[in-house]
Amino acid sequence: MKYIKKRDEPEDLANFKASANEDWKPTYNDLRGTEKTNIHQNLLQEQGYICCYCGMGIDTGNSHIEHLKPRSVFPEEELNYNNLLASCQREREKNEPVHCGVKKADWYDENLIVSPLESDCSDFFLYTGSGEILPTNVLDKKEAAVTTIDKLGLDIDKLNAMRRQAINGILEAVENLEESEIKQLIDGLNKLDYQGKYTPFCVAITYIIKKYFIGEK
Ligand SMILES: [Zn+2]
Repeated sequence: MKYIKKRDEPEDLANFKASANEDWKPTYNDLRGTEKTNIHQNLLQEQGYICCYCGMGIDTGNSHIEHLKPRSVFPEEELNYNNLLASCQREREKNEPVHCGVKKADWYDENLIVSPLESDCSDFFLYTGSGEILPTNVLDKKEAAVTTIDKLGLDIDKLNAMRRQAINGILEAVENLEESEIKQLIDGLNKLDYQGKYTPFCVAITYIIKKYFIGEK
């Protein structure tokens, strides 16, 4: 999970909320297609086109606007930009395992969710070279990590396999590099590329490179 630094509320959303009057209070369901697409696009840019929870590469076609605090439980938060994220999977699909926002659905527990809006969110998880995600062993973080992995399905076979592939792809390149070059590579993985995108699963890849190649963590 990669920390998301929220930007200012997009103009579309601000204007939409400002259109409220005595008789009409805007709700999320009232957002029109173009407004929704623009907000979705803003969220993707803010996150560098990776899923807010699992870190896979996403775009408008294979992701949705996710409410961190679910609308059913926190209706007052449904148009709060700081509660909106972009999560992978557009909707439930036949034969496709659910994970991330679609699996999380109406779950939210302030004490047990690891939120990508917390700057230390990546410290809650460990990764193995074969792509598995594990909870940290740090005691005050472990329960939230275990619960979040479970509630979001972050350890399902599909995501493990995707992470494994992403890790393998980079490791072959790392083996022949000097330590200074490896550090440069890590810097690059944590920066947006020229298209404004992060490398999918960059947090897991960085973790593995640091652990096995420069002895950190
Ligand atoms: Zn995801």
